[in-house]
Amino acid sequence: MADEQLFKTLYNWFLEERNRLSRSIMSYKKDLDLEPDRKDLKKSIEEKENRLALITEEAIQKYQAFWNTLFPHERRPCPSCFTHGEVSDLLPMPEDNGDERVRCKTCQRSFYFPSSSTDTRQ
Ligand SMILES: [Zn+2]
Repeated sequence: MADEQLFKTLYNWFLEERNRLSRSIMSYKKDLDLEPDRKDLKKSIEEKENRLALITEEAIQKYQAFWNTLFPHERRPCPSCFTHGEVSDLLPMPEDNGDERVRCKTCQRSFYFPSSSTDTRQ
């Protein structure tokens, strides 16, 4: 597992997660316009907004800076936990449909990246 490729995957996760959260918030807000009394929607929006607020440029830069302090033999930190101020190890997992993946030992989130050198998701 190439360290550089793993970093790229995790870095992209931050950007993708931001997009995912923004899209969910927008769609929940549309639903809330139609059904303004739904407390569950309000709660979901609030949760997602709180999560989104943690994934700042600064947080991503801190993650990168922290990554650069690690020695090659050390476990890599989970980007999701990192935004919550926790450093949690990513563990290599068996391949899943040809994709390599690592999984966070705390939040159980999996991060996938293709094992081949032809990464087309740039
Ligand atoms: Zn985690």
